[in-house]
Amino acid sequence: MSPADLLAAARTAGLDVRTDGGRLVIRGPQSAGGIAQALLDRKADVLAELARDPGPGHWLGASRTLRRPVPVDGQYPHICGARVTGAVSGRPLRLQPRDCAACQEGRPE
Ligand SMILES: [Zn+2]
Repeated sequence: MSPADLLAAARTAGLDVRTDGGRLVIRGPQSAGGIAQALLDRKADVLAELARDPGPGHWLGASRTLRRPVPVDGQYPHICGARVTGAVSGRPLRLQPRDCAACQEGRPE
C-alpha cells in the first residue's frame, strides 16, 4: 500500500492524521489501530506524503516547498531562501523574497 493509500484508508476509518513538528500524531477509534500502526511503521513516507498532499486547510505551495504541512489558520511562512526544483526549468533554484508571499505582505505599497 502506498503512503497515499494508507492515508486514505486512515481517513476512511475515522483517523485524524496530522504532524506536530517532526512527529506523526494520530487520533481516532481503537478499531483502526492496525492502520495507525501501519502509518507509524512508515512514518518517514507518510510525513513526506502529508507534505506533498497536506489535505484541506493547508497552503499547498508552502507545504510542498517546506516539506511539512502548513495550516492556513496560522501565518503564511517565509519560503524565501528555500531550495526548490523549478517547475518550468526542472533545475534547482533558491526562492527570492519576490517569490515569497510572506515578504510581499510586509512590503509597503
Ligand atoms: Zn520571505
